[in-house]
Formats: sequence, structure tokens, C-alpha cells
Amino acid sequence: MLVIGAGIVGCATAYYLAGHGFRVTVLERGAIGAEQSSRAWGFVRQQGRHPAEVPLAAAANRLWRGLEAELGQDLEWTASGILVAGETEADAARLEDALRTARDHGLDSRLLTPDAIRAVVPGAPAAWRSGLFTADDGHAEPAKATQAFAAAARARGVVIAERTPVRAILTTGGRATGVVTAVGTFGADAVVLAAGIGAADLARTVGIDLPIQPVRAVVAETNPAGLATQVAVWSPRVAFRPRRSGRLVLGNGYRGIDAEHDLTLGSLRALRLFLPTWVANRRILRLRLGAEFVADLARRLSAEGACQPLAEPRVTHALVRRNAAELYAAFPHLSGLGLARRWAGRIDATPDLIPIIEFAAVPANLLIAAGFNGHGFALAPLVGTLLAEKIAKGRTALDLHAFRLARFRGGTARQDQGAL
Ligand SMILES: Cc1cc2nc3c(=O)[nH]c(=O)nc-3n(C[C@H](O)[C@H](O)[C@H](O)COP(=O)(O)OP(=O)(O)OC[C@H]3O[C@@H](n4cnc5c(N)ncnc54)[C@H](O)[C@@H]3O)c2cc1C
Repeated sequence: MLVIGAGIVGCATAYYLAGHGFRVTVLERGAIGAEQSSRAWGFVRQQGRHPAEVPLAAAANRLWRGLEAELGQDLEWTASGILVAGETEADAARLEDALRTARDHGLDSRLLTPDAIRAVVPGAPAAWRSGLFTADDGHAEPAKATQAFAAAARARGVVIAERTPVRAILTTGGRATGVVTAVGTFGADAVVLAAGIGAADLARTVGIDLPIQPVRAVVAETNPAGLATQVAVWSPRVAFRPRRSGRLVLGNGYRGIDAEHDLTLGSLRALRLFLPTWVANRRILRLRLGAEFVADLARRLSAEGACQPLAEPRVTHALVRRNAAELYAAFPHLSGLGLARRWAGRIDATPDLIPIIEFAAVPANLLIAAGFNGHGFALAPLVGTLLAEKIAKGRTALDLHAFRLARFRGGTARQDQGAL
């Protein structure tokens, strides 16, 4: 079996496939976890998901609970709950919508009063007038979890070849039979495409159009803050995850500009499908035409082509500073805490903001799992389990119909307004 991409989805898939007794090779253009999987916030969130995604998030959560024991590593797994805070009436209405979806799926989510918010996050600002809290949501450290899956996969005999970009998928008689790399071809009975941002270019080599566009977001890690909570928080103005060290992983709130789409030639190709999403998210998404356009064009025109590792994504420092300022405004005693680290990451976005998990594409025996829209860290253990199950048994325990590529046929894709 071949897996393309050693992010957390590829490494988890390889680990579970090896558990079914398959011989597996993972081909990675850069280093393990170097694209999205080491850059995530680390939220393992069930609440506020698209209704189709909630059953996956809930099943993934159950796997996370046993993952440190299963992989034999410290993942900083913390089952402390996640709070989505609201300030305005409109925020409260969205949280109530999300609560209905959560309840429909049997999640133990509840709306919190301001006092109850302060009980789970001592010192929370008075502006947080409503909150949606799911006590069995959790968080973990993305780089550790990805490396742990990779190490556990290797312990089961999986070969992970880093710095081995895949140039194309090979087919014979309508079936995926291997891949082409710079160091030669690899044959396989099945190919798993778990290449994140790189998935669309590879799918195109077998005539499949994957509507995936990169969206760049910034993250930072503070100096130790010592907040008296382990709860991860997503508020309108700032998000944070307390690490075991006391440092906070800091991201954007859900209001205000939180992500940037760097326009490339690929943006034009996807325009018809993505335009409604860009318009719907115009207040939180900024379109950029600049250095990434030139870099993308240069890669595509180079002899090595688009499969080469991507350059380090640009950090928009103004957004990092804004996130830090919002943290200090919410928790004035943290003012001046300072940042130890800052980075950016490219999220693989789809037009309807849910992933593409496709088993029935032509060619046969090509399984696609990409376009996780900033949710793939939480979902990865489950998605890896399902992909391995599909290859081993020909079926999966969960219905994945909502994630099929065919939903984009006809050029429309509907976003779910209830998802946060
Ligand atoms: C800033 C940020 C915050 C996030 N926060 C969260 C969060 O809190 N919770 C959550 O659940 N998710 C979060 N995510 C999303 C999460 O990180 C991703 O959904 C998840 O890591 C996807 O894993 P993956 O393995 O599919 O992709 P990736 O980690 O991107 O792995 C794909 C791999 O494929 C390789 N590849 C691509 N093309 C080729 C090729 N041609 N040949 C060989 N290899 C190739 C890449 O190099 C890469 O290593 C966040 C993401 C970002 C960027």
C-alpha cells in the first residue's frame, strides 16, 4: 500500500493499515508533519461542527481518549473541554444553533451563563456573556501527535520516505497502481492520497478535479502564562490553548480577519465553486495577490513542477500582534506576557468547508482524504481508522456519503450556517 503525505492523516492511516497486516510505504515531499500537521492549534473539538462532521468528530474524540496509551507517547492530550465564547446577541444565537446540532447528535454540550463561564475559565472577561461548552472536548499537541503516529507506524514496519515528492499517480486499466517520484516509480495495490494542500495537483494527474484552496493563518505561542484553566477557548476576538508548560497557543477569534487566501492561478480554476464561500466569509477572509502568486507560478514552471515542498508560509505579523493584543485585553494581568514563537500555516479549504473523503473515484483503488478545512487534526485518528478499514474490509463503520467528491458536481456547494 502507498500513502502520499506524512501529515497526521497519512501517518495515522499508515499506522492503522499496518495494524491490518498490510505492508505500507508513505511518501512525503518534505518532512513528517511539516505542512499543516505541526502548525495546528491542537483543538479536538466536536461542538460547532457541520452536522455531517459531528459523528466523525465524536468518534474521533473517543479514539483520542485512548491514544496516548495506544501510541505509547505523551501527546499533551487534555480532556478539559472547549469553550466557544460569545459577546453579542448574534453570537448567542449562533451558539444556540450549534447547541441544537450538538444535542441532535447526543453531545454533552451546554450553554453557560457568565458565572458558569468564569467557573471554567477563571478571570474570563465580562464581555463573554454567553458560551457553548462541551466538557469532553479536548486538545493535544499537533507536532507530538503526528510524530507519535509516524513512530508507531514505523514500529509496525511502515517505511516513511521523507524528501520524496510524488509527481504523478499511475493507473493501469482504470485502477491506481502506483506513483512516480524523482527517484523512480513505486507500485501498489491501493494508493491513499493524504497530501493536504498538495492533493489537488496530484489528483489532476489522473483527471480528478479536487476543489481545494490554501488559506493562510497565523499562530503564536506565548511565554508561560499560568492561566488557572486547561480549557481551550475560541472567542470572537482570540483563541487559545493552554499547554502543559503554561504557555498559550494563540490564534484568531471568529470575528475579524482571521485568514488570508493567497491568490494563485489555481484560484481562477476554482473560482466558480469558491466564490460563494469567499463572499459569505468576506469579513473574516482577505484575498491577497502578491509573493505567493509569483512563487506558485515559479514552482509550476520549474523542471520539478508543483509537487515540490512549499516555501515556508509568510507570517502576517500584524495579525499575530492583534491576537496578542486581544488576549491582553481579555486578561489584563497577562499584558506584556510576550510571544516565544510565531508561525503561519496553510489550511486546505474546500468550498463547503468539510473534507473530501472519496473511495469511489476513477481510478479505482485510489482513496482520497484531503481538504480538512482546519479540522483534520481532531479527525485524523478516525479518518486513518476508516481508510484502513475500507482497504481491509471494503466498507467502513461510519457513513461517509456527505464527504464524497460528487457533491461538487453541478458547480454548487452549500455551507452549513450552523457550523462555527
Ligand atoms: C494554523 C492552523 C491551525 C489549525 N488548527 C486546527 C485545530 O485546532 N484542530 C484541528 O482539528 N485542525 C486544525 N488545523 C488543521 C489540521 O492541521 C489539518 O487539517 C491536518 O493537519 C491535516 O492533516 P493532513 O495529513 O491531511 O495534511 P498535512 O499535514 O498538510 O499533510 C499532508 C502532507 O502531504 C505532503 N505532500 C503534499 N504533496 C505531496 C507530494 N506531491 N508528494 C509527497 N508528499 C506530498 C505534504 O508535504 C504534507 O506533509 C489547523 C491548521 C492550521 C494550518
